[in-house]
Amino acid sequence: MTENKNQNSVVPENHPRFQSLKYRHKIIEGMKNLVVAEAGLIAHGRGECFDYILGEKTNKAAKKAIKAAVAMLLLANHPVISVNGNTAALVPKELVNLSEVLNIPLEINLFYRKKGRVEAIKKVLENAGAINILGIDEDDMVTLDGLESNRRLVDKLGIYQGDCILVMLEDGDRTEALKKLNKKVITVDLNPISRTAIWGDITIVDNIIRALPEMLAIIEELKDLKKEKLRKIVQDFKNKKNIQDALNLIKDYIDTQKKDAFKILEIKN
Ligand code: ATP
Ligand code: MG
Repeated sequence: MTENKNQNSVVPENHPRFQSLKYRHKIIEGMKNLVVAEAGLIAHGRGECFDYILGEKTNKAAKKAIKAAVAMLLLANHPVISVNGNTAALVPKELVNLSEVLNIPLEINLFYRKKGRVEAIKKVLENAGAINILGIDEDDMVTLDGLESNRRLVDKLGIYQGDCILVMLEDGDRTEALKKLNKKVITVDLNPISRTAIWGDITIVDNIIRALPEMLAIIEELKDLKKEKLRKIVQDFKNKKNIQDALNLIKDYIDTQKKDAFKILEIKN
């Protein structure tokens, strides 16, 4: 059971939308604790919509992208994991695990840098076991060229000098700015045609709640491979083709759902 303190109701585990409701509540709680921005609720809703038409499961294209992403992170010299409010609210433990097993710093990077938010996110990450978190002290920050939003503020020791940045639920403007600085960008984004998805080097079209555990599992598979093997995995991965595959999976899923829906509609009438 998951409790929705907001409405004093309890969602039974056999509810057909249990998972989706559970994560909605995490986002709502996150908003109350300052971790999630109001706009983060809307971004979550947009993600849910894409997840719905992807069948709410990690598809083949996403699995391929995850493998290439892990290989790229293992090869990078200064990889960084960029953390925002939604990711901290939904998958704090997985972020910390990923950071630990890959030995990659977590950097808080926010579009809405409202007072108290950085501290709230820091607390959530620390409660999940994080020790060294970047993006906290404004004295350690510099600004990225070509960006107007708060996301231009990056840590000197983190994204600023990073060569490969993992971004999730990212804004297209910053993805473009990171690319213009010649950084490799790995993104997890449920919308295969968002600007972030299109600009990324490796686009994982999946929900972060599934993609991060899958990444952790794949690390176990790849961590002892020789560098040449990892390079081959990255070279063989074609992002354009993978995005095309993700879009085709959406088309196929909608076709199947349409057939099922029409069967019911015909019986009903
Ligand atoms: P862009 O700026 O890249 O064009 P956008 O403006 O449409 O994208 P933003 O609000 O900037 O969207 O970013 C949120 C993105 O994150 C959306 O593409 C949304 O589908 C995606 N998203 C939301 N929740 C999740 C989630 N749990 N897992 C993965 N992606 C998600
Ligand atoms: Mg955007």
